[in-house]
Amino acid sequence: MSARAESPAEVVARLRATFRTGRTKDLAWRTTQLTRLRALLTERGDELAEALRADLGKSRKEAYRTEIDFTVREIDHTLERLEGWLRPEPAPVPAVLAGATAHTVQDPLGVVLVIAPWNYPVQLLLAPVVGALAAGNAVVAKPSELAPAASAAVARLLPEYLDTDAVAVVEGAVPETTALLAERFDHIFYTGNGTVGRIVMTAAAKHLTPVTLELGGKSPVFVDRDTDLKTVAARLASGKFLNAGQTCVAPDYVLTDPETAPALADALAAAVEGLFGQDASTSPEYGRIVNERHFDRLVGLLDSGRTVTGGAHDRDGKYIAPTVLADVSPDSPVMGEEIFGPVLPILTVDGLDEAIGFINDRDKPLALYAFTSDPAVRERLLTETSSGGVGLGLPLAHLTVSDLPFGGVGESGMGNYHGRYSLETFSHRKAVLDTPLG
Ligand code: NAD
Repeated sequence: MSARAESPAEVVARLRATFRTGRTKDLAWRTTQLTRLRALLTERGDELAEALRADLGKSRKEAYRTEIDFTVREIDHTLERLEGWLRPEPAPVPAVLAGATAHTVQDPLGVVLVIAPWNYPVQLLLAPVVGALAAGNAVVAKPSELAPAASAAVARLLPEYLDTDAVAVVEGAVPETTALLAERFDHIFYTGNGTVGRIVMTAAAKHLTPVTLELGGKSPVFVDRDTDLKTVAARLASGKFLNAGQTCVAPDYVLTDPETAPALADALAAAVEGLFGQDASTSPEYGRIVNERHFDRLVGLLDSGRTVTGGAHDRDGKYIAPTVLADVSPDSPVMGEEIFGPVLPILTVDGLDEAIGFINDRDKPLALYAFTSDPAVRERLLTETSSGGVGLGLPLAHLTVSDLPFGGVGESGMGNYHGRYSLETFSHRKAVLDTPLG
């Protein structure tokens, strides 16, 4: 690469020229790129883990589990199945076209843009890139400036491993992203908040570029009466406080009945101690808040209820203790926005009808979680609420299933990815009718 930084227009033109040679469409090129990306993750994983520690205080174990190994698994899943997924799919033809055959093919789109956020800055950049490469596209990858170490690491490592005329990393903040968005892409895949999602979609509309928007929201948890609260609390706490609560599908708030709430609060306090000890600030497994702006925002939410556990914070260390709040009112600050941090409010509702009403009065969440052994309760939650995905009995884990689509609905986003859904997102399903001449 030349010493002078290329302009966004030059980057896109260079990648488009590569795409037009046809080389990114070859199955061999695709599998080579995916294999090389896998090699980057396994050979240089420690460099990425170190960057994630610097940006978010992530432990090495968490960095591998939730970002590096996660992406390796996504690559393996794709490499094993890609050829099969790419086989043309036959379609029946109507009687009037007897003799003709019809099928669809997955056509690569061209040059795609992936814009990633800071909370899982490696996984959320590279997992979409896996799909884009598998589908035979050239890719511009834009990491988040709010995770500067991870951004620098991927900008340094990707060119060492991948075809630099087909994959480019463009680092930067709002001005750089705005300049990129002025270019014409064939798909834009954005992960982040809904305000910027609207900016992305507006920019894309100018070129009629399709978008995938992976957004967030307040993902509710319903805890039914008569559940094993020790198990519920252990699973909730480990899902909620992973990455210090900075997870798009983190349980945002808990709805339960007034009789269950006190026992659940106690069980959550015990679960937090089981995970991180009496003082989470000394636990190597507990992360930090990304920056002072988010730290200040989160500290402003800590008075929204009675503190059951946590509440301690330290601005210099960007540390906020895993915090559980009880007696929280729906009008309190913590219920006003997606929390995106280590604060878990418990609200009481008078049964399932009120819980469903509460959920449906708000934006459609990215995930809905429920802990219940009553099939009728599960069925009602599934059919009477709308969310990107559902986790029954376990938060977060649905997104680790590569055969499930991951994405939101309404305010939590549009489109989805992972596994073959990524291939579909980054391809055009082209219809072909073949009618014999003779
Ligand atoms: P962020 O601030 O890192 O922004 C995301 C990306 O948008 C960055 O690359 C940034 O450079 C770019 N950006 C910011 N302002 C821009 C502008 N004005 N114009 C163009 N680009 C701009 O991350 P964030 O938005 O704070 O991320 C947190 C949000 O993302 C939460 O709402 C969370 O729920 C959501 N999220 C969703 C998923 C998912 O998979 N659905 C995953 C992670 C996070």
